[in-house]
Amino acid sequence: MPETPILELENVVKQYDAPGGPVRPPVLGGGAATAILRGITLSVAAGDALAIVGPSGSGKSTLLNIMGTLDRPTSGRVRLEGRDLANLDDEALAAIRNRRIGFVFQLHHLLPQCTALENVLVPTLAPGARQADVARPARPAVENRAQTRPRPDEPAAAHEAQGESAEDRARRLLERVGLGERLDYRPGQLSGGEHQRVAVARALINRPALLLADEPTGSLDRASSDDLAELLAKLNREEGLTLVVVTHSAALAARMKRQLELRDGQLSPIA
Ligand code: ADP
Ligand code: MG
Repeated sequence: MPETPILELENVVKQYDAPGGPVRPPVLGGGAATAILRGITLSVAAGDALAIVGPSGSGKSTLLNIMGTLDRPTSGRVRLEGRDLANLDDEALAAIRNRRIGFVFQLHHLLPQCTALENVLVPTLAPGARQADVARPARPAVENRAQTRPRPDEPAAAHEAQGESAEDRARRLLERVGLGERLDYRPGQLSGGEHQRVAVARALINRPALLLADEPTGSLDRASSDDLAELLAKLNREEGLTLVVVTHSAALAARMKRQLELRDGQLSPIA
């Protein structure tokens, strides 16, 4: 049996209501021209690294938000680890989002008064986050280790069996992204590139199945941008982290295993 994809989109359509009222559905001939996404079908396997490029306003963020359960499609299906998200209410979606998906955005939204270490720990404070961790007696990463790919939490599985704390894990992640010497620095004392590295560590703290990044290098200079691209590629290559990255950067896109272009509401291979 083939492994269940991490993420599957089937004929996803997204249409925003026009200001002043809902647009007519496509079946009535009214909405087709205003649909941002027009039937996106896509499968992302464990360990994949997908770049999505496209002109500004083409719907890349809209698509990423739908993948990340931050938004719902107008029609079509989204499955995360085999589970149809349409059947879940907002609360269940929020729980899945917190535990299974990590986000990195263009602007890092770090808490200025907190250290790098504390910022990485923030997602573990969400209601239910730690309790959920504890309440999951048979974590796939531990139980089915032989069958599952190595993930960023693989080394953690052993640590966790010995009771690795969230703080230990946050330290380890910050070391992994090259900030082992900056644990106690506050955002004001870190460069833009370092901010994004903290954001990556924070996105990984709850051991997501999928990392979604929206223009993660969009506000970085060339050198920091190349460093972050290399870090993401390395996490994918060495630890099997599943990645979907939306980017304007040809250099970042080229570091991913696959590249697709979003244009006119459709995804296609880059010519
Ligand atoms: P990209 O990330 O590729 O630049 P977006 O997904 O942000 O594109 O936006 C695609 C289009 O959808 C834009 O024309 C934008 O104005 C529109 N759009 C995005 N979000 C909303 C919203 N909440 N309501 C109405 N229109 C929106
Ligand atoms: Mg965008």
